Amino acid sequence: MTALVIAEHDNAQIKGATYNIVTAAAQCGGDVHVLVVGHNAGEAARQASRIQGVAKVLLADAPQLGEQLAENVTAQILAIARDYSHILFPATAHGKNVAPRVAAKLDVAQISDITKVVDKDTFERPIYAGNAIATVQSNDAIKVVTVRTTGFDPALAEGGSAATDELPAVADSGSSSLVRREVTKSDRPELAAAAIVVSGGRALGSSDRFNEVLPPLADALGAALGASRAAVDAGYAPNDWQVGQTGKIVAPQLYIACGISGAIQHLAGMKDSKVIVAINSDPEAPIFSVADYGLVADLFTAVPELVTALSDR
Ligand code: FAD
Repeated sequence: MTALVIAEHDNAQIKGATYNIVTAAAQCGGDVHVLVVGHNAGEAARQASRIQGVAKVLLADAPQLGEQLAENVTAQILAIARDYSHILFPATAHGKNVAPRVAAKLDVAQISDITKVVDKDTFERPIYAGNAIATVQSNDAIKVVTVRTTGFDPALAEGGSAATDELPAVADSGSSSLVRREVTKSDRPELAAAAIVVSGGRALGSSDRFNEVLPPLADALGAALGASRAAVDAGYAPNDWQVGQTGKIVAPQLYIACGISGAIQHLAGMKDSKVIVAINSDPEAPIFSVADYGLVADLFTAVPELVTALSDR
């Protein structure tokens, strides 16, 4: 029994989610292999080989795999899928783009967004925006699984010494090509992996006020910025900052919610944070029911005061 982890990487570096998936794969009970599909991805493969608990790294490296288009990555996985009992993907945009294609081609049921491995056939996954946990058992010979990264601790990045096997690369499918990639550049940590997140809601009132009030607090704490869907829909914050059921799932050490009411769809994305701080002018706001520290205050006064207090340290 061997589990195959599909690495998330940018050819030069393994992304954080991969380490959590290795932990989930190890809990399936057998060896763990990691597949790196890309171009000039030797460094990513080297990093994968050093992850503790990885028995083997498979590298498929060719120009047609450089952009990791879903059609080509799927074909590369299918070329070796029958050797594995489990194929695990992070439940990220990329993982969720490829996993269903692999499951469909293997004619198995995908098991989505797991937060716990009970045994090799049985998994837990949140349903109803995290308000209930379903236990799912699969009899499929190959389990195709997407993993909620916040459910598993990351495997240690160093300590392993797995061998790397090069795989023959599949041909380009020809059915899609990358036209343009627009990457948001930011000096802040990535939202899904940040240790501290400062999030703003509808109360911010405009994009200008959002950008005036919250970044100084995020900068003082070295935090990522997040937002509620209401703030995103109103154009106060970019789409990829949305936290919640239809946004990103985060579980930082510290989550500071500013002017966010705490609708269940928002809580679904952040309630597993280690410490939650809420600043809200309404003492009845539902966010206070999950907050470890609550401040009933006007955020336009409280946040700048917090920034001043932090800079005086
Ligand atoms: P509001 O609910 O309007 O809350 C604003 C809060 O700010 C209030 O509590 C108010 O007391 C407080 N406030 C006002 N002025 C101040 C001030 N000066 N100082 C301090 N506090 C102040 N939402 C998400 O966030 N993420 C999702 O992924 C998501 N997915 C959804 C999926 C579906 C299918 C649906 C139906 C909804 C989804 N929503 C999601 C929307 C969700 O239901 C809420 O509408 C949204 O979270 C509300 O955002 P908010 O808290 O910023 O705004």
